Amino acid sequence: MKLLFNTVHQPGQIEIYNASVLDKVKLESIVNDQGEKNSAREEVFTSEFKKLYNLQVTKGRGAIANYEYFIEQLIEGNLPCLFFIPEAVSPVRKEIEGIAVKFASLETSKDIVEFAKKYGLLGVLGPFSRTTDYGFTVFEPIYWWEHYISQIKKLIKLYKMLKKKHKNQNIDIIGELLNYKEGNGVGTFEWNKGGKIPFYLKEEELSDEEFEHLDEIAGAHILTLLVRERLKGAINVDFSDIIKCESSNIGFRIKEVYSTDYLLGAIYYDLWQLISNDVEVLFCKYCGRTFTKSGRKKYCNDSCKSMAYKQRKKGGK
Ligand SMILES: [Zn+2]
Repeated sequence: MKLLFNTVHQPGQIEIYNASVLDKVKLESIVNDQGEKNSAREEVFTSEFKKLYNLQVTKGRGAIANYEYFIEQLIEGNLPCLFFIPEAVSPVRKEIEGIAVKFASLETSKDIVEFAKKYGLLGVLGPFSRTTDYGFTVFEPIYWWEHYISQIKKLIKLYKMLKKKHKNQNIDIIGELLNYKEGNGVGTFEWNKGGKIPFYLKEEELSDEEFEHLDEIAGAHILTLLVRERLKGAINVDFSDIIKCESSNIGFRIKEVYSTDYLLGAIYYDLWQLISNDVEVLFCKYCGRTFTKSGRKKYCNDSCKSMAYKQRKKGGK
């Protein structure tokens, strides 16, 4: 089903700053701006921002127990964050088809800012919990973005490996992408480049045949679980059109769609769509970025193609 993505983020309203700018906001909210004006502050933060910032902190307490402390840590480390600085909040609807592959291909902070200017902030209050705490945000540390980009990349890899495995290609998901550990009859999984996976299985419950196909079984379960956990709380059933229709028993035909207010939810939904629609995703042979297959393209763009050509020529000499 089609997903409508509703956002309020406008391209000109997304900026990257180091977290120390938040210090001013914090001070300001404590002092409560007693008529005292600071032009530098006023330039960066609008009153709309301050209102929404307080909203994020209030909601964020549900995701990170001590949100104020978390912000202090950000400020202390002076970590780069994306900011949404609105004048007034006005909703827009964005097309999201193909967004998961685009998101997975982001590498530098510059890529991330460019993407955020187009689609807005992720809409998550904290990065590393098993279920996602979705909420309206005005700032998000870049490292959250890097975390989710690497997650989507791993899931695309896993999807590609499951496809190859199904075509009987010789490939080991456990070993190449996942680590499997067994203890007291319980098998646990990790990404082999680090990162826990909240999935386990009891070996005694597996038949011999299932155990032989542990690779695919675990792979399919992990793929499903990790997508499912991120869709939770993000996707709603919605109605887009109400059309007069005599033959309908209520006189109207109502078109059903899914909708979300959260970019990360839209990205995971798009990932699931590409898996269900069997879209072919490739990793560029030169730079490793993801792109959607079209024709016989092996590189994400012409510059990678010519760089790879130069490299081959050099190597051939
Ligand atoms: Zn490339």
